Amino acid sequence: MTDKKIVIIGSGPAGYTAAVYAARAGLEPVVIAGSVTAGGELMNTTDVENFPGFPEGVMGPQLMENMRAQAEKFGAEIVYDDVTELRTEPGAHGITTALGAEYTAEAVILSTGSAYRELGLPNEKELSGHGVSWCATCDGFFFRDQEIAVIGGGDSALEEATFLTRFASKVTLVHRRQELRASQAMQDRAKADPKLEFLLDSEVAEIHGEDSLTGLTIRNTVTGETSQLPVTGMFVAIGSDPRTDLVKDTLTLREDGYLAVEGRTSKTGVEGVFAAGDVIDPTYRQAVTAAGSGCVAALDAEHYLAARAASETSQTAGVA
Ligand code: NAP
Repeated sequence: MTDKKIVIIGSGPAGYTAAVYAARAGLEPVVIAGSVTAGGELMNTTDVENFPGFPEGVMGPQLMENMRAQAEKFGAEIVYDDVTELRTEPGAHGITTALGAEYTAEAVILSTGSAYRELGLPNEKELSGHGVSWCATCDGFFFRDQEIAVIGGGDSALEEATFLTRFASKVTLVHRRQELRASQAMQDRAKADPKLEFLLDSEVAEIHGEDSLTGLTIRNTVTGETSQLPVTGMFVAIGSDPRTDLVKDTLTLREDGYLAVEGRTSKTGVEGVFAAGDVIDPTYRQAVTAAGSGCVAALDAEHYLAARAASETSQTAGVA
């Protein structure tokens, strides 16, 4: 059992920024970073052009590596493990990990981010890693000179589709409506790419292949007509949902499934438990807003710990 002042669960921009602040405040935070998800969604991103301070842009994984190094420099301990249980008990929250470690923490910051959405079709999971993927930067290389479909109409889909044209002979972006959700800048870049085609008002009806993906049946969402798209790769980029599994029975969730916090604070309503980043944010979901949210959580936790320490000191003085 390891007693800590503060444990941060999750390691995207929110978790690492919270760790930088908490470590600089001398709170010696432990970041339970995740065994395979360390660094969060930015690990699957290429160029990040809108994080302030990088006029030439920065690769997502590099940005996360920088944040991790900055947190460690000030004394944060990073643990590559997954939290399997959080028992909220004011003063000594209990944390169990997949590798069997046990912690108690006076304050906990939840920055568990979000998880990729799935289409929910037969064969999708079975062919994951065999043609079906959620990460262009991880798997794009395997589709050199092949035809690929990217599903979705947001910034992620257009970013992935544009990135994949480096490898693929052709990329078809399949989106369920006529209007794309992505930013204009991203749309302009994608539309200028000669290897990228748009299949709008369209959705995936069936995923074909036994050992690996051989093609998709596409349904027109307006007419209902179906057609075949012979691709060997499909990248699903239809957004993500907050990762709240750990706390969905103990903390308050909003109607849309995100963790509820009080106003502009990171307070979850359970004493000493704070939340930050994409897990509380259905709206902005940017690296920089997640980082800012991590800062808020660390400051809230710091004030909470200071108030606890002051109250303990006055109680001790009262007894004496
Ligand atoms: P998103 O903006 O929520 O877009 C999800 C897309 O997937 C939408 O076009 C949606 O269609 C479609 N979709 C959702 N469920 C679907 C389903 N079951 N079947 C088919 N299509 C489905 O998610 P995102 O693109 O991952 O972006 C998330 C946030 O990160 C956004 O705020 C975005 O700006 C940000 N982001 C920024 C950058 C950047 O600036 N470089 C890069 C990536 C992401 P509808 O449009 O019809 O709803």
